[in-house]
Amino acid sequence: MVIAIVGSGPAGFYCADFLTRALPDAQVHVFERLPQPYGLLRYGVAPDHAGTRGLSRLFDRIARRANLRCFANVGVGADIAFEDLRVAYDAVILATGAACGAKAISSDPDLPSSSSITAFDLLRCFNGHPDADARQLPGRTQAACIIGHGNVALDVARLLAHPSETLARCGVPRAVVEWHAGLGLQEIHLCGRGHAGNTRFSAAGLEELENVDGLRRLVDPADVSMAEGSNLPALEVLRRWAGHGGGADSGPGMAIRWHFECAPLRHRDRVLVVRDPSRGMREIAADVLIHAVGQRPAVMPGVPVDPQTGAVAHRNGRVDGMPGTYVVGWAAGGRNESIAGSRAAAGALAEVVIADLRQRSVLLDGRAAERLILSCGLGSPDREPPAENG
Ligand SMILES: Cc1cc2nc3c(=O)[nH]c(=O)nc-3n(C[C@H](O)[C@H](O)[C@H](O)COP(=O)(O)OP(=O)(O)OC[C@H]3O[C@@H](n4cnc5c(N)ncnc54)[C@H](O)[C@@H]3O)c2cc1C
Repeated sequence: MVIAIVGSGPAGFYCADFLTRALPDAQVHVFERLPQPYGLLRYGVAPDHAGTRGLSRLFDRIARRANLRCFANVGVGADIAFEDLRVAYDAVILATGAACGAKAISSDPDLPSSSSITAFDLLRCFNGHPDADARQLPGRTQAACIIGHGNVALDVARLLAHPSETLARCGVPRAVVEWHAGLGLQEIHLCGRGHAGNTRFSAAGLEELENVDGLRRLVDPADVSMAEGSNLPALEVLRRWAGHGGGADSGPGMAIRWHFECAPLRHRDRVLVVRDPSRGMREIAADVLIHAVGQRPAVMPGVPVDPQTGAVAHRNGRVDGMPGTYVVGWAAGGRNESIAGSRAAAGALAEVVIADLRQRSVLLDGRAAERLILSCGLGSPDREPPAENG
């Protein structure tokens, strides 16, 4: 039996892990459009999070299994046809992740396009993604406003607040370190719709900001003192900082200021206008908006789309109207999923795939897949995982 996985991010690679272990006689082939594998583990996770990025060593070990072959630099739909995969493999699993970051509000057409960037694109630049374009990076910026109250927003805030030398030590590309050093940033606003008790920050993610030298963390006591909600650990940290988060309200050095219950309306004249239910319309200084409000799933042409989620239309991972085709991870609409969430989703999908394969009376012997690989000029699979794990 032969199984194709499209995409080598955490969802695809954990699927490969489960399937190669559960089905030792099966051949699993992973196709990745980029020259380097592991998706957002390599190109999304913050460069200063060495622990999380170290997961790539586990993936390197999985990649060496005898019943797994990885083909890097092979885009399905570009270098190899999706329909051909469906014919040559018993099962095809789409794990294509996200296509781009989402924006909370559209950009003002009168502003330069670099004044509004997604965290997704910014982190691509920090991580040296082959498609990253340093021209997307904003010019000199005194105040930046990050929209979103989750851990990706904290990653962006922390990376911007770090001294440039720290970024250089974490392997951030030189051009981006130089951009960071010349940015002139003084204040970062973290703006979200929910109140202080209902953010998606982790307490650990907030506390990491305490390790950034000289960073003032500015939380208005009025926002947190009476707040309740579902995320009490994060609220506790915000309460601890309220009024005295590492320095005075104004002063030298970089500051991060939290804003709650703010619905962004428009960005104009270096100001973000927000609607605040208790304080009415407000203006927040923002030369640049950075959107950390999720992402849009990557759906290949010819694959059905769920109009509600924009992700691949599926039931329990089985793609609608395409027997033998499955979807997992962000391509399946796992909107807020973390790497651990991708692992859980991959395990659940592997069970579905295995159950379906066990019901089939005829399974392929792999010769059609072999012919397809050769006909596409992919004879020598990328068996050696990359040497560096950054
Ligand atoms: C900026 C950012 C930071 C994050 N930080 C963390 C963190 O610190 N901790 C955490 O737990 N989670 C983090 N996440 C979330 C985590 O990255 C995702 O949960 C996870 O990567 C989703 O895995 P995936 O495999 O679905 O998608 P991806 O990681 O996007 O992988 C999809 C892969 O498919 C490939 N692909 C796409 N189309 C094709 C095609 N046609 N042919 C072949 N290959 C294709 C892509 O090149 C990519 O390699 C972060 C996310 C972002 C955006």
